[in-house]
Amino acid sequence: MDYIIASHNLKKRDEISRILNPLGIRVLLAEEVGIELTDAEETGTTFEENAFIKAELGCKESGMPCVADDSGLAVDYLDGAPGVFSARYAGEHGNDDLNNEKLLKELEGVPDEKRTAAYVSVICCVYPDGRSITVRGECRGRIGYTPKGNGGFGYDPYFLPDEYGYETTMAELTPEQKDAISHRGKAGRALAKVLEENGIDK
Ligand code: IMP
Repeated sequence: MDYIIASHNLKKRDEISRILNPLGIRVLLAEEVGIELTDAEETGTTFEENAFIKAELGCKESGMPCVADDSGLAVDYLDGAPGVFSARYAGEHGNDDLNNEKLLKELEGVPDEKRTAAYVSVICCVYPDGRSITVRGECRGRIGYTPKGNGGFGYDPYFLPDEYGYETTMAELTPEQKDAISHRGKAGRALAKVLEENGIDK
């Protein structure tokens, strides 16, 4: 069964794909299906709302089951910021370097134990008959001071997951290691579980 993903982010697609492929689900980009999807306006105030907005529009435009992830980083010291604004934290959509620069500035002088944060991923699937599934995953850690590693994307070079004792950034993990602990890995596995239990459109 083919699903379309409402995203241009290849890394996100690959991460979700790795989890759904074993169920017999291919996760395709719009360009692979030969169509164009309108970029949905992320007007929601929660990850859940934005994931649904993206998946619903993608499903309507493609006529295919559509999966969308809305994700971000919630820093405790910053009262959950950047949150749903993670991709546009520095004002320029998708500029990871500027976003990271702003994050570090906001955390200047903040000690290790107060640099706690959670990555959040909400994955929503919308089906042409109107059904939808929404799942959420979280990964806790701390924000470091200097970038390390070349893997992953976004805030990964600064994110020190709890599981690795604040020695290793998310960007230093292999894809498999990231999947095992990441917010998207957890949300993806929750989705796979629902699909397996319900036997929904695999
Ligand atoms: P979205 O595409 O609107 O969901 O925005 C997601 C943003 O959150 C990305 O641009 C990154 O800044 C951040 N983000 C989400 N997941 C990850 C991750 O796994 N690693 C690093 N940054 C992430």
